[in-house]
Amino acid sequence: MAIQFVMPEFEVVRDPNKCIACRVCERQCANEVHSYDADLKMMISDDSKCVNCHRCVTLCPTHALKIKKSEHTFRDNANWSGATINEIYKQAESGGVLLSSMGNPNNFPVYFDKILINASQVTNPSIDPLREPMETKVFLGKKNAEIKRDENGKLISKLPPQIELTMPVMFSAMSYGSISYNAHKSLAIAAQALGICYNTGEGGLHKDFYKYGANTIVQVASGRFGVYKDYLEAGVAIEIKMGQGAKPGIGGHLPGSKIVEDVSKTRMIPQGADAISPAPHHDIYSIEDLRQLVYSLKEATAYKKPVIVKVAAVHNIAAIASGIARSGADIIAIDGFRGGTGAAPTRIRDNVGIPIELALASVDQRLRDEGIRGDVSLVVGGSIRSSADVVKAIALGADAVYIGTAALIALGCHLCRSCQTGKCNWGIATQRPDLVKRLNPEVGAPRLINLMTAWNHEIMEFMGGMGINSIEALRGNRLMLRGVGLNEKELSILGISHAGE
Ligand code: SF4
Ligand code: SF4
Repeated sequence: MAIQFVMPEFEVVRDPNKCIACRVCERQCANEVHSYDADLKMMISDDSKCVNCHRCVTLCPTHALKIKKSEHTFRDNANWSGATINEIYKQAESGGVLLSSMGNPNNFPVYFDKILINASQVTNPSIDPLREPMETKVFLGKKNAEIKRDENGKLISKLPPQIELTMPVMFSAMSYGSISYNAHKSLAIAAQALGICYNTGEGGLHKDFYKYGANTIVQVASGRFGVYKDYLEAGVAIEIKMGQGAKPGIGGHLPGSKIVEDVSKTRMIPQGADAISPAPHHDIYSIEDLRQLVYSLKEATAYKKPVIVKVAAVHNIAAIASGIARSGADIIAIDGFRGGTGAAPTRIRDNVGIPIELALASVDQRLRDEGIRGDVSLVVGGSIRSSADVVKAIALGADAVYIGTAALIALGCHLCRSCQTGKCNWGIATQRPDLVKRLNPEVGAPRLINLMTAWNHEIMEFMGGMGINSIEALRGNRLMLRGVGLNEKELSILGISHAGE
């Protein structure tokens, strides 16, 4: 028998004085960690299968369970961590690419945590958001450089198509297939109730969700899954996905096990076949090619829908964004390296891309310097965790943000980073019917609505504190930000002063 080098990452600790052997944990765990040993007349665990998703801990009626990080350790070595050694063992055993999900968990600087927000004192009074009107509505799309009126003063300029949002937050692209029907339904219901948008991702639009079209962004990715005329016309905007923050430069791969009947119909591919989206769009090798796709999609929808181009935040993002703005796109979405995903090669996820804060600031500045900032709106994502991150992103130059991981956490995700297994115990990143039904959209949607409502209140409080009553007046207002513990170069890219200045 081959020796098992990789030791379990977690340890299941069961308090024998509390456990009543009800077997709830056994029934709830798709990873088959728990079982009842009839000889021993007690519950036992297989630590090697535990992904620390907390499903059993949360549902155990007697609070008998806790999951601990394994105390198994390697000898201290600042160069070779235990995690790195284990990864080498895994690859030596499998010969395969390491896969993981969600965003980059490594200890890179989180610039949002090194930026502080201003508040008015004495000379520029703050505004009480409970008593004064506060405007958090945003319009995404190209803005006219000038407004023309006829001789009677009537407005004759026509505004290009816009996405109208009640607050500057949208649910980011998550495909049906990578997440469940019930997760999609929760996002769609919540987006409609909130007056914001959710995004189909690259998996097409399930026929049940066409009724949420006014709050749907439909995506066109390199695999073109589920793309046809009705689909393009169903949403309020069309997003061309060129890249995503979790895996810049590579394509997507949804295993055949997740292509169940409904997913296959929605994606228009055979049931059980792997859904592989190529790394590049095979018809795009230049900004001119991108322009052709942008205008093809506009043409196909009678120029009534704004077109978004989504890219990953990478080294020369400012120049890339400048090109996209000139391609005729109405909105640029930039996804930072902490952006989540259902499955990515671990090495790519953890080593490719750049932080969204730096990408955003440099893109906003470049577009302003070139006098084309009004030609596009900017939407950023990649680990927006709170209303404070939203406010900081907008002050750095974003028109709105995308949230993905935060929305999934609101639905019950415990960030076990095992989505790629398809065994999500919380009914989110799975297509197994017994697991999907654990997420009830009638419970999930209100949780999303609560989260967004709370964030919007907090955004208004931040704005009031700054003496600003319109989110428009906050966009790119970097005077409202100060850095702490950042060097000159970082401050210069972010375009902000240090605290105390
Ligand atoms: S759910 Fe809790 S009480 Fe029930 S068998 Fe598991 S550990 Fe024991
Ligand atoms: S969606 Fe599910 S599998 Fe993925 S990280 Fe969250 S809890 Fe884990």
